[in-house]
Amino acid sequence: MEFKGFTTRLVHADRLINQPQDGAVHQATSNSVLFEYQRVEDLVDVFQGRNNGHAYSRQSSASINALQNMLSQLEGGVGALTFATGMAAITTTMLALFKQGDHLIFSQFLFGNTNSFAHTLRGLGIDVTLVDTTNLANVEAAIQPNTRAVYLETIANPVTQVPDLKGIGKLCEKHGLLYLVDNTMTPANLFDAKSVKASMLVGSLTKYIAGHGHVLGGAVVDTGLFDWQTFPNINESYKSQPAHMWGLLQVKKKGLRDMGGCLTPDSAHLISIGMETLALRMDKICKNALTLATYLASHAKVEKVYYPGLSDHPQHHLAGDLFAQYGGILSLDLKEGTDCFAFLNDLKLVLNATHLGDTRTLAIPVAHTIYFEMGAEQRAKAGISDNMIRLSVGIEDIDDIIADFEQALDKL
Ligand SMILES: *Cc1c(COP(=O)(O)O)cnc(C)c1O
Repeated sequence: MEFKGFTTRLVHADRLINQPQDGAVHQATSNSVLFEYQRVEDLVDVFQGRNNGHAYSRQSSASINALQNMLSQLEGGVGALTFATGMAAITTTMLALFKQGDHLIFSQFLFGNTNSFAHTLRGLGIDVTLVDTTNLANVEAAIQPNTRAVYLETIANPVTQVPDLKGIGKLCEKHGLLYLVDNTMTPANLFDAKSVKASMLVGSLTKYIAGHGHVLGGAVVDTGLFDWQTFPNINESYKSQPAHMWGLLQVKKKGLRDMGGCLTPDSAHLISIGMETLALRMDKICKNALTLATYLASHAKVEKVYYPGLSDHPQHHLAGDLFAQYGGILSLDLKEGTDCFAFLNDLKLVLNATHLGDTRTLAIPVAHTIYFEMGAEQRAKAGISDNMIRLSVGIEDIDDIIADFEQALDKL
């Protein structure tokens, strides 16, 4: 019997997919770095790919495989790899798959550190064009003969733009481009990445998936939709494996193994605990976010609220088609002349903190912090005003959240 519901599949995944011993419902966590073989021939077989056993835990272990299997199953993928952080997942995947002379198309609305990494790629001779991905024509116009991939986020940070995910998926399919989607903002319970033809999902496990602000992690999932036989950068030695595994195999060997940004078994354990309640938390978070966004949008001291769930958001209908709910991130501009630092200092419940996807509601002035290094010109291009505050809405009771904003707005 096949179980369809997201949380049903999730809470039984470890038991059913990974089949831990002795009736355990969880795969045991082992911190062993090394794996011993009685017969040296078996160790040799592991090294030469004839045996799926483990040799050294930077490359694989049962604890890590268990989480990877669950993540892959939730997305309907052909496999997954986990990393120490979301940034390790993103950078390792790109460095393993792209090389000097390649051209990539990135959304101009990206997580600040990923945007910063685009400069690193350029320094390595990998050309990156940043485009406004809410308009399909911009992506199409940027395609060159050496373009290998399009990279974007499902809901951008902090202005909450939603790209034309379906249109770009079709475009990538038509041109044989790898379609890399950072779905940190919209995990599998909100967004079916295969429906937009995403090739690979990359992103952070630190945020909504783990959810409690006590562990870092990242992942890449191959959806199985990309034909790796058309990709020119696959190392010949991996082509003896089935073609649908080539991309992930190269990321595993050239990336995870050689660059070493692996997740620890203890972190995988914490992530898998947090993950079981993903849909419950996300549901409360999205409902809270919509109520809070609606409240703030009608407040006299608020100039503008950016949230895909509001009917005046430029991609409101698109977001409604793509996502089960509108996510937990919203941003606001206070009215001209108000002091956003004073406002933030007056919040009692809401934390002044970077990070998102937490159980607690968090606030941060973005131009002065996470987008400071980007510079004023780039910020203007990304639609980030100097007074903008980003909120990551938590699971607290909504009346308490609203009461906190109300008392701080009253003091302005
Ligand atoms: C936080 C974040 C990342 C990076 O994840 P870390 O686990 O913090 O390294 C990448 N992409 C998006 C959209 C994020 O919000």
